[in-house]
Amino acid sequence: MSKEKTKSQAEELKEKLFYTKKHSTLIMTDKEQKKADKFCEGYKKFLDNGKTEREASAEAVRIAENEGFVPFEKNGKYKPGDKVYVWNRHKAVIFAVIGTEKAEKGVNLTAAHIDSPRLDLKQSPFYEADELGLLKTHYYGGIKKYQWPTVPLAIHGVIVRADGSTIDVCIGEDENDPVFVVTDLLPHLAEEQYKRPAPKLITGEELNVLIGSRPFKDDKVSEAVKLNLLNILFEKYGVVEKDFLSAELECVPAFKARDIGLDRSMVGAYGQDDRVCAYTAFMAMMNLKNVPHRTSVCVLTDKEETGSDGNTGLCSSYLKYFLSDLAECLGTNGRTLMTNSKCLSADVNAAFDPTFPEGYEKRNCAFVNKGIVVTKYTGARGKSGTSDANAEFVGEIHAMLDKNEVIWQTGELGKVDFGGGGTVAAYIANLDIDTIDVGVPVLSMHAPYEVTAKNDVYMAYKAFYSFYNHC
Ligand code: MN
Ligand code: MN
Repeated sequence: MSKEKTKSQAEELKEKLFYTKKHSTLIMTDKEQKKADKFCEGYKKFLDNGKTEREASAEAVRIAENEGFVPFEKNGKYKPGDKVYVWNRHKAVIFAVIGTEKAEKGVNLTAAHIDSPRLDLKQSPFYEADELGLLKTHYYGGIKKYQWPTVPLAIHGVIVRADGSTIDVCIGEDENDPVFVVTDLLPHLAEEQYKRPAPKLITGEELNVLIGSRPFKDDKVSEAVKLNLLNILFEKYGVVEKDFLSAELECVPAFKARDIGLDRSMVGAYGQDDRVCAYTAFMAMMNLKNVPHRTSVCVLTDKEETGSDGNTGLCSSYLKYFLSDLAECLGTNGRTLMTNSKCLSADVNAAFDPTFPEGYEKRNCAFVNKGIVVTKYTGARGKSGTSDANAEFVGEIHAMLDKNEVIWQTGELGKVDFGGGGTVAAYIANLDIDTIDVGVPVLSMHAPYEVTAKNDVYMAYKAFYSFYNHC
C-alpha cells in the first residue's frame, strides 16, 4: 500500500482559495465519459446531415416532429407539456415546451446559430475561362480566404425557378458524387503571391470554384464548356442560367465529421461554429424527461455570421414576435414575459491553441476539454458591441452549473486589442432579457475544418438540459 501523502496547510488553503480549471477527463466518471462519447456519435451525424442553415433547421424540425412538436398557432390554446415550433422561412426555427409555471414569470431561452462561414455563389455565377468552367463566389462570414482553395467542396442550396417551384440542390456529399474546388497557384511560381499580405494571399475574386472542363461537342459555338455544364444542370434539374439569379447556393467543405486523435477525444468537422451549440441546446430540449417548470424555448437562428441582420437573423423581430404571440396564448403580454425571461446565448468561443499562444491571455481564455465556456462579455475595443451579462445573472448561472455537476470554465475571445467578435447575446439582451454567452471552445474556428473536444460538447448538452429545468 502506498502511503497517503498529507497535504500541507498551504496546499489545502490554495485548493480552497484558488480558482483553477481542471481537465474534464480527470473529473468525469468512466460511465459519464462513455455517455459523452456516445452523445457525439449523434452530433457527428447531425453535422453531416445539416451543413447549411436550411438543412440544419430541416433536420431539427424532422427530429422535433418525431418527438411530438407541432407548428405553433397564433391564438392557440396551450397547456403545460405542449410542444410547438415556428419555422422561419426554412432558415431559422424556434422550438418551445410549455412549462407549468405562469408565463408572466418568463421563459428559459437558448439561442444558437446554424449558419456557418462558406462560399456563396454569386447571382450570376457561371463563366468559362480558357476552357475551364468556373463559378464566381462571394464568401459569407469571416474567413481566412487562403484556407479555402484546394479543399473539396460540395454545393448545397435551393434554386427558385421562374414558375415559383423550388429545387433542392446537394452535390458532393454522396461518395459517388463529384466535388468541386478552388484552385491555387503552385509554390514554384508563387514568388509574387507570397509578397501579398495574408488577407490578400487569396482575394475574394480569386475564390472561383472549378466545376468542369469538357466542351459541348460542337466546334462552332463559343463557351462550349459552360454550355456543356448548363446542359448537364438542365438535364438533371430542368434549370436554365436565368434561374440561378433566384438561387441560394452555398459551397461548403465536402468532408464528413470524424474523430480526431488517437484517443478519439475530439471531433473534426465543418460548421461546428455554431452547430455544436445548436445540436446540444436542441437535443437537451428533445430529451427533457419531465415537463419543465418554466417554459423552455430554443431558437436556432440564421445570419449570425454576417451580423444577424435580415428577417432570419436575430436583429429582426421574429423572436420577439414569437414570444409576444406565445405570451398572449398563455394569458400574459410579451413585454412581461420577456422582462422576466432568462437566456443562454449558445455560441462557441475560441480555445487556446499552443501553436499560436500570442492571440490568447491564458488566465482568462478557454481551453478544450475544460468544459463549457461561460463568457460574461465579448466585443472588441473596450467591450464595444457586447451586452456584458450582469454579475447577478452570471452568479446564478455559475451556481446552476455547479449544482448540476456541469464542468465549466470562463472564457474571453482573445487578448484585449487583438481583435474580437460578438454573438447574438446583445440582441436578446436588448429585449430586456437576462442573457449570457455559454458554449463550446473551438480550435481553428471559422476554418473549413474545426475541432472541438467531445467532453465539452457533452458538457454543453448537460448545461442546456440543466438550464431548461432551472427555476
Ligand atoms: Mn462564428
Ligand atoms: Mn458562432
